[in-house]
Amino acid sequence: MTREIQAWIQPEDPAAAAPDRLPCWLLERPGQAMAYGIPVDPLAEGAPRAKLALHGSGPTVDPETVDRAVHPAEIAALQALAGSSLPGLPGPVVDAKVCLYTMTPDEHFILDRVPGMDRAFFAAGLSGHGFKLAPALGQALADLALDGRTALPVGFLRLDRLAL
Ligand SMILES: Cc1cc2nc3c(=O)[nH]c(=O)nc-3n(C[C@H](O)[C@H](O)[C@H](O)COP(=O)(O)OP(=O)(O)OC[C@H]3O[C@@H](n4cnc5c(N)ncnc54)[C@H](O)[C@@H]3O)c2cc1C
Repeated sequence: MTREIQAWIQPEDPAAAAPDRLPCWLLERPGQAMAYGIPVDPLAEGAPRAKLALHGSGPTVDPETVDRAVHPAEIAALQALAGSSLPGLPGPVVDAKVCLYTMTPDEHFILDRVPGMDRAFFAAGLSGHGFKLAPALGQALADLALDGRTALPVGFLRLDRLAL
């Protein structure tokens, strides 16, 4: 499990950080953590805020003891990224939170039978990119539990590919 930071910027130019000008984005930065963000939500109440975060670069932690505070140096790094990454994003960091990723060594999910059980299946280790695929994973799990097989190409997600 890794400790990741997500932050919200109050853009100096909210119109430039709105979805018609700024899409959801992801920056691969050679030698540095991948960064991604979500534009201002025009339907949200309150001051406009755009999300900015680093992907999968944090330290391995224990969820029972993880440091949930976001520290000034971490805010400063995100602030610098906001200032240099995309037009429309410069602005103060107005909120930041720690979140946890369940990472596998190859960053692919695990979807398999629960060891020792015939009709119990699980998906785990979604490695920070499982949300968009949750409906497909749910379909595969339901197929496996009900029919013992699925037409979805999930074989590469087997548990035994990992030396755990
Ligand atoms: C900061 C962050 C950013 C992310 N960004 C992205 C992204 O941009 N795109 C993407 O595709 N994925 C992203 N992910 C990953 C994505 O959020 C997860 O892969 C996905 O939410 C996992 O879905 P899940 O249903 O397995 O678990 P969860 O979404 O964690 O749902 C589990 C649910 O079970 C509930 N629960 C837990 N224990 C119990 C209990 N004992 N009894 C009852 N309920 C219980 C929890 O409250 C929770 O509602 C991100 C994750 C994090 C942490």
